[in-house]
Amino acid sequence: MAIYNPKSLKAEEFINDGEILETIKYAEENKNNIPLIDSILEKASPKKVGDGYQCQGLTHREAAVLLACDIPEKIEEMFKLANDIKQKFYGNRIVMFAPLYLSNYCVNGCVYCPYHLKNKHIARKKLTQEEVKNEVIALQDMGHKRLAIEAGEDPKNNPIEYILECIKTIYSVNHKNGAIRRVNVNIAATTVENYRKLKEAGIGTYILFQETYHKKSYLELHPTGPKHDYDYHTEAMDRAMEGGIDDVGLGVLFGLEMYMYEFVGLLMHAEHLEAVHGVGPHTISVPRVKKADDIDPDVFDNGLSDEMFKKIIACIRIAVPYTGMIISTRESEKVRGEVLNMGISQISGASRTSVGGYTEEERPHDSEQFDVSDQRTLDEVVRWLMENGHIPSFCTACYREGRTGDRFMSLCKSGQILNCCHPNALMTLTEYLEDYASDETKKIGYKLIEEELKKIPKEKVREIAENNIADIKNSNRRDFRF
Ligand code: SAM
Repeated sequence: MAIYNPKSLKAEEFINDGEILETIKYAEENKNNIPLIDSILEKASPKKVGDGYQCQGLTHREAAVLLACDIPEKIEEMFKLANDIKQKFYGNRIVMFAPLYLSNYCVNGCVYCPYHLKNKHIARKKLTQEEVKNEVIALQDMGHKRLAIEAGEDPKNNPIEYILECIKTIYSVNHKNGAIRRVNVNIAATTVENYRKLKEAGIGTYILFQETYHKKSYLELHPTGPKHDYDYHTEAMDRAMEGGIDDVGLGVLFGLEMYMYEFVGLLMHAEHLEAVHGVGPHTISVPRVKKADDIDPDVFDNGLSDEMFKKIIACIRIAVPYTGMIISTRESEKVRGEVLNMGISQISGASRTSVGGYTEEERPHDSEQFDVSDQRTLDEVVRWLMENGHIPSFCTACYREGRTGDRFMSLCKSGQILNCCHPNALMTLTEYLEDYASDETKKIGYKLIEEELKKIPKEKVREIAENNIADIKNSNRRDFRF
């Protein structure tokens, strides 16, 4: 039997079934242990250090106790603490992005995904470089600056060379004042050599969802194709880091397996990355399985209530305070609105999950990966965020300034966010308002920016930000950043 070892590079040792089961047992035994719960909440709460705050996060065992606890007052405390941590380290900024589907050709047999090889009635499509360019223009015309590219796994149709070519095309398009400044990549687990090529192509985060950490279920849910190899998939982030990518994004597809098992596995994965590479995951995504062509989510009997989903998000935020958290348009406006106050720091807007979807007049459904719940335009999402006290940020400065991996983490920990990320968010929001927003959104946005500028502590930084904002309004100069 494999022994738990977070420093091991073997999947079964750092995601250890025995340790997960022990943790679940421990959490169940202690879910009403109020003194323990209070001490865990106290440990996780931000502590003032110098000019800023620091948090130490939680171990997977401690976090599991919080998730198991169903005492209403304690859950309220968790929600408050999650929001407090989010506000202290990320402020009220919400980073915006959109997915771009390149190809839905896939040789895998994932039973929850409409791209699975045996699905013969989904329209198969792969974008040509001309089509990539047109999709990018459509995304730039909405105001997007950050994309997550998505593709099925198919060595013949979507080899790494194709993905690299698409990245090059995406970065090369400059329509009017538009530009895609960060391309994150969500493609199947691959080799160190290919990760190195992605790094050289200038990608931001490499994202790969584990889907489920439960090996037996994983093997059943991925019955055929290269993705069937649990160890290869689970060890992918170590290869990505070996290939030089130091921003990696984790996630599980909630609904496939028992949420507690996934939650503990996810945190163990984060601990493993920290133990081996000295830096935890840059982001964690929390997708829930959705209806799609040939896929009925009700056949998976581990569906999550919205209440439990919110608790999971809050507990992840408390356990890994410096990791960005992403929510997609799989979720409704209502759920998205609630979890923005529980630790989420990035959301997608106006997403189309079909290949070539952004250049189609109507939202196409024939090649969609999943049903999109939140179907609002980017302008509507941006306005809604601002009306709810958030600052939509189109900033991509960190990775372009080399602040990735542990350098990003130390910015986060140093309390310099208000002197760096905050002005960057306001400047990129100004770009959005000037170039793409409706009059109503513009009005709300400029009022918000005026107020938010006052929060920049360093006078010099505030002055520079104000001048840059004036420049963006009065000229075509763009892309200012700290
Ligand atoms: N093919 C790549 C892979 O296997 O990792 C990457 C991307 S796939 C296009 C992106 C993600 O969509 C998957 O990792 C999976 O978690 C999610 N997904 C698949 N089917 C889904 C469904 N029915 N509902 C919600 N999310 C789904």
